Amino acid sequence: MIAEVIVDILNSNVDKVFDYILDPSLNLGVGYRVLVPFGKRNIEGFIIKIKNQTNVSESKLKSVICGLDSFACLTQEFLGLMEYMVKTYNLTKASCVRLFLPSIISASKPKIVNFAALVCENFEDRVKNLIQSEICCYLKEHGRESLSELKRKFSPSSVQTLIKNQIIKVVSEKQNRTPYLDLKNDEKKQITLTDEQQNAVRVIESRSPNIFLIHGVTASGKTEVYLEVIEKALKENKSAIVLVPEIGLTPGLFKRFTSRFSNLVAVLHSGLSAGERSDEWLRIKTGEAKVVIGARSAIFAPIENLGVVIIDEEHDSSYFSETNPRYYTHDVAKFRCRFNNCSLILGSATPSIETYFMAKRGQYVLIEMKNRALKQKLPDIKIVDMCSEMRNGNSGIFSNLLVQKLDECIKKGEQAIIFINRRGYSSFIRCSNCGYIPECDDCDVSLVYHKEDNLLKCHFCGNRYKVLTKCPICGDTNIRQGAIGTERVKEELLKLFPNVEVFRLDNDTTLNKNQIVKIITNFNNTRPAILVGTQMVSKGHNFNNVSLVGIVDADLSLHFSDFRATDRTFNLLTQVAGRAGRAYTEGLVILQTYTPKHFAYNCVMNYNYNAFFEKEINLRKATGFPPFSEIIRVLVTSDDEQEARKLLLEVFNEMKVLRENNPHDFVYLDAMKSPVKRMNKMFRYQILTRIALENKDRIIEQIFKINNSVKNPKVTSFVEINPQNLS
Ligand code: ADP
Ligand code: ZN
Repeated sequence: MIAEVIVDILNSNVDKVFDYILDPSLNLGVGYRVLVPFGKRNIEGFIIKIKNQTNVSESKLKSVICGLDSFACLTQEFLGLMEYMVKTYNLTKASCVRLFLPSIISASKPKIVNFAALVCENFEDRVKNLIQSEICCYLKEHGRESLSELKRKFSPSSVQTLIKNQIIKVVSEKQNRTPYLDLKNDEKKQITLTDEQQNAVRVIESRSPNIFLIHGVTASGKTEVYLEVIEKALKENKSAIVLVPEIGLTPGLFKRFTSRFSNLVAVLHSGLSAGERSDEWLRIKTGEAKVVIGARSAIFAPIENLGVVIIDEEHDSSYFSETNPRYYTHDVAKFRCRFNNCSLILGSATPSIETYFMAKRGQYVLIEMKNRALKQKLPDIKIVDMCSEMRNGNSGIFSNLLVQKLDECIKKGEQAIIFINRRGYSSFIRCSNCGYIPECDDCDVSLVYHKEDNLLKCHFCGNRYKVLTKCPICGDTNIRQGAIGTERVKEELLKLFPNVEVFRLDNDTTLNKNQIVKIITNFNNTRPAILVGTQMVSKGHNFNNVSLVGIVDADLSLHFSDFRATDRTFNLLTQVAGRAGRAYTEGLVILQTYTPKHFAYNCVMNYNYNAFFEKEINLRKATGFPPFSEIIRVLVTSDDEQEARKLLLEVFNEMKVLRENNPHDFVYLDAMKSPVKRMNKMFRYQILTRIALENKDRIIEQIFKINNSVKNPKVTSFVEINPQNLS
């Protein structure tokens, strides 16, 4: 027998698949992790195919040494998924395997705990002294005890003597490292589903398997629907995957799941230690855990017999992997659901335009939930025109209305969130005389002033620079600050309300995930309090006492040249507004803008997703943007600008030929510098194209071929399908 084995999976951008002789007596098959000789070493590999013949000459052919696990790491499902991803995204097989089986299984050893226990209960006449007797009585009373604990409580030497004399014995056991063990479970609440929730569950039950979109306003109780559907799957002895944008930030969600399904829940996300991750992975693989919750990569959980997959906040851009290996979580989820013949449930208060379009066309089953579960009113949204505010003599960053409402909120002992989608103190600094703006040496972006550290920082690569006291070009000392960020907002709030606690949540305050959870917990436990934050505050947190949300500069994300800018603004503002009045307090949202008439704001204010969708979809149709076409970007990067350009032109010329041969399939095609021309010292060039839907698979395959045929070791080029970030 011959086995095709993928090797060297840890650091390679080319697929290395080699043939090895496989001895049938090893009892190995497709999907097994094996040890194979490679050059002078033995290395790890995966069997991806078994065949009878090979073209490799007999003298060169080596044999698989042994298997490394008692099970096939890659099931048929994952082998199929690998083929699918290779074809759809032009990935290497090895990079897929890396996604499916993060190094954890080989990298981390199980945690072994040693316990001490009595060999037999009649120890009285065998012990030599009082302390030995005490140890034995303790064990008789408590059953077993961890060896280290026992030695700490009594005396190490006495414990050792008892072991040596075989009065007590040592039992070793593998212990799972379980994340969030110290979180207390929520009390099991007896909840009666609302009519809308019951309806959702009924529709899902009666029309499964299918793809469902639950379009439900914030706090409409979507999560309760998920829990109910999962419970039904478990009753049929099936399993479930639940994806959320950033589970590391929301341990509260984990609590809700464990209080319902206790230790059947496993959690996978990047905030876990390698040991925790490997143990959770094995608990899933062995079927001990049947409900996996996690961020994007949890879609690759090694779970079998799937009964349902849920993608919450489905519009979130974190579901697109934007670095290699690039993939779209929804695609992978659809593949897994097809394979397992089960349902996919997408949920959001603001579905992406593409998803809602599919639902409207009947390709997904649309479920609407229009009311909040506890009948709370959706918060009132008031739009404040900052231009007229300025005309009336207020040039501060807060409108008079916002200051007044903050004051009332604080006096009532409630909480407020102030949202500003920019971290740091000010967006850039500029010389008032000559207009010079300092930029990063390695990236093509202006630097952001951080007052706390008194530094200028690059938000792309993290480089830090000294603050300027005078302009390096003209020598002028009048350096001005640009638009405001979170730091500045916090400072201004403390000036207005010196006695109130103000917390800040953004990428600067929260370098690690425990800190995020700490800030949120502290905020939740403080009243009155104000939380200043970037879009991080919008992501799924269940703040129960927030009655006021202030949006300092709603226009920030509106004026990007990206065709998704309005969509993102609408989603973000609706989500942020949704943080107010979630439980029993009434909510108010104050949205400050310089363009109060913009239709997106009107839709946000009236919670009119449908009006927003109609306007946006018509625009996309008229301009030939997705979902009416597919955007493809070939991104070419190199530290050598000439080489990058050369390769770009080669690909571009071939793509022009492709267009000439298929004139109706190209809506648009052009080559250019990327908007961010340099990032991390790498020059960036791109080809942008939009492809008509009809033959898109065939055309994309051709583009992959072109890209793969043009090679230069100094240049990286990659074809991105529907990239979310075009910088
Ligand atoms: P969503 O996922 O749509 O944002 P959640 O499921 O988190 O909404 O529900 C919002 C709040 O309402 C939560 O605190 C939840 O416990 C509560 N809730 C949801 N459904 C019910 C119900 N049927 N009865 C009582 N409380 C509910
Ligand atoms: Zn930089």
